[in-house]
Amino acid sequence: MVYVMSRDQRVDDNFALLLAQREALERRLPLVVLFVLRERPGGRSREHFLFMLDGLEEVSRRLQELGIAWVLRQGSPSRTTLATLRELDAASVYLDFSPLRGARARAELLAREFEGSTHVVDAHNVIPAWEVSDKQEVAAHTMRSKVHKLLGRYLEAPPRIVRHPYSLADHLETLSFEQARDIVHGLPACGIRIAHPPGEKAARRHLQKFIDEKLEYYALLRNDVGRDFQSDLSPWLHLGHISSLRVALQVIEAVGRPPLLLERAKLAEHSGQPSAYDGMNALLEEMIVRKELSDNFCLHNPHYKSLQGAPEWGRQTLEAHREDPREFTYSLQEWEEARTHDRAWNAAQTQLRRVGKIHGYMRMYWAKKMLEWSRSPEEAVEMCVYLNDKYSVDGGDPNGYAGILWSIGGLHDHPWKERPVFGKIRYMSAEGIRRKYDLDSYCKRWLGS
Ligand code: FAD
Repeated sequence: MVYVMSRDQRVDDNFALLLAQREALERRLPLVVLFVLRERPGGRSREHFLFMLDGLEEVSRRLQELGIAWVLRQGSPSRTTLATLRELDAASVYLDFSPLRGARARAELLAREFEGSTHVVDAHNVIPAWEVSDKQEVAAHTMRSKVHKLLGRYLEAPPRIVRHPYSLADHLETLSFEQARDIVHGLPACGIRIAHPPGEKAARRHLQKFIDEKLEYYALLRNDVGRDFQSDLSPWLHLGHISSLRVALQVIEAVGRPPLLLERAKLAEHSGQPSAYDGMNALLEEMIVRKELSDNFCLHNPHYKSLQGAPEWGRQTLEAHREDPREFTYSLQEWEEARTHDRAWNAAQTQLRRVGKIHGYMRMYWAKKMLEWSRSPEEAVEMCVYLNDKYSVDGGDPNGYAGILWSIGGLHDHPWKERPVFGKIRYMSAEGIRRKYDLDSYCKRWLGS
């Protein structure tokens, strides 16, 4: 029995691993976890792969303690997986679900060519992406009502993985982590210093600290760019070091009250006072409704990385403003080196280049200004995707593609007052942010005086 780990790089709360083990126990077979280090970095950088390998090393140690074999190989994810399954004469394979094209092509190839059975398990979303909706949702409010209808059914703790009693007779060829790191050292570095410690244990520790220190203020202060009240969970959620189900369960347990479900009102709203209850509801809104909406989008729209993925009204309005004069335009190098005229934009880009993350509120501003100061909306999307995937620790994720198209193409949004360049796409300005939050201290933090 083989589980091919990809998007959900953890041992606990991993339904794909649990289901693979269940079948292996029923059939009295050994259980192997395979990870394929892909040959091409796909727009990601050396630092991201090193972070990932550190997390995987922790996974491999835990699996060995549990009597589960670990195999790390390099190659084309589809072909290497198929060859390994054949080498093992595997009865079944379990795969992590991802709505992105590469992962889906791999699942399709295995379903077609692998002689055993192929299972795809959504261990990433709280509600499996194909359960919540069978079409592309228009906006958060249509997704929210579907999520809220089903959520109660899915907010249950998964069983624990057990020690596996059947082991492999033969030793399997696997890359050591040293070898894998040598391979990864050959990839281009982007120069970020990742502040997040990698792995499942670190993610759990961080979650507890967030609950203890910030949850109460999360609904009130997470958008305040001058302060630091976001959950900061995205690098771990992106690589599946922690599941959003575990985050939700732990937060609900800490608050001691069930979340506000089946409520039409926007959960992210708050009572104006610090409140762990508001914090919980706001976090579930971001981490379930918004995050799972991104998976829904990429699952149902193959053009998630280009302007073609934007809704028709968004494309039309941008087309109508294609020839509008741009006050400034920048080359990729100028964007990348944070050399624009705008201090707020440069601060966001500098944060990205230093630590591989931008404050969530500034992230919207960052992308919107790239629309305003690019030669075309297509170029703006392309550069945003390039920079986000190259630098962000949580990049290469459906959230990134949806976030970029929300900012530039009006995805999941509605038309606003028409203006130059943006047309009816929602506009953002530094003055608007400054009126609400301490933008100057954000800029000072990343750019100095
Ligand atoms: P919190 O605000 O504490 O939110 C908790 C979790 O909820 C996040 O970790 C994330 O999983 C989810 N979440 C929060 N906001 C959103 C959102 N708007 N859409 C979907 N899920 C959300 N998120 C990524 O994970 N990877 C990306 O590459 C990415 N790129 C983005 C690019 C742009 C242009 C924009 C506008 C947004 C992008 N986002 C991305 C969404 C969001 O900005 C980040 O998830 C968030 O800033 C991560 O920080 P946090 O974990 O502290 O978030």
